[in-house]
Amino acid sequence: MLERYSWTKARELFRKAKVALIPVGSTEQHGPHLPLGTDFMTAEALAESSAEETGVICTPIIPVGISPAHLQFWGTLSISSDAFRAYMKDLALSVAMHGIKRLIFVNGHGGNGAALQEICRELRFQGTYAVVWQWWLDPEVLNVFEKLFTSRGSHAGAGETSMIWLINEELVDKRALEEAARGASEVFGIVKHGAQLPYDTADFSQSGATLDPREASREAGEVIFSTAKTELVKLIRWLAAAPDKELQLKAHMP
Ligand SMILES: [Zn+2]
Repeated sequence: MLERYSWTKARELFRKAKVALIPVGSTEQHGPHLPLGTDFMTAEALAESSAEETGVICTPIIPVGISPAHLQFWGTLSISSDAFRAYMKDLALSVAMHGIKRLIFVNGHGGNGAALQEICRELRFQGTYAVVWQWWLDPEVLNVFEKLFTSRGSHAGAGETSMIWLINEELVDKRALEEAARGASEVFGIVKHGAQLPYDTADFSQSGATLDPREASREAGEVIFSTAKTELVKLIRWLAAAPDKELQLKAHMP
């Protein structure tokens, strides 16, 4: 969104808005049926449409994130978490430089989550309050998943497939849904005796998907998208209205 404004129009927007959204995703394999850009397309669509409704700022999408676990699948791109953290933090600080110190990272990729949480803490020390929001982990969206699907496959499953079906139907290869389901894993990752192994997706999934994406549909995408958007809009409104005192670091204990 911001990329479409001149600096003089941006000035008006920055003077009015209280919150900025920073959408970020990944370019990584999503099974044989979904595009590599799945994560950033969903984050971008949710962020843009929520920014439009609320009048807040939305920065350009950051399309590549931390995806080393998918590198055996052709076309996946990945950057180190050190580089990602530094880049995303500088981006946040440049938004803060224009006076917006309340930020939401609209994240479309689970692998970015921990790094973004760390940045949020560092930013708070520096007087900027940022939070991470991830559509597929929102409790309302999880309720919807429960109602819509028997298989709630996380990575490239029915949820993500439905979202892309809605956002850009021609990018869903419906003939490849069978192949995705056949080679899908039951869970994402490998746990042995309580230890999370340093897995690659290729260790446990042949198709790159987790669980069965065949229940996906455009209609499901509509319900998921509107539920997620409603939640993001509520988060934006909460953050815009929160008193400074609630967001600032607390004083030292007496
Ligand atoms: Zn994804």
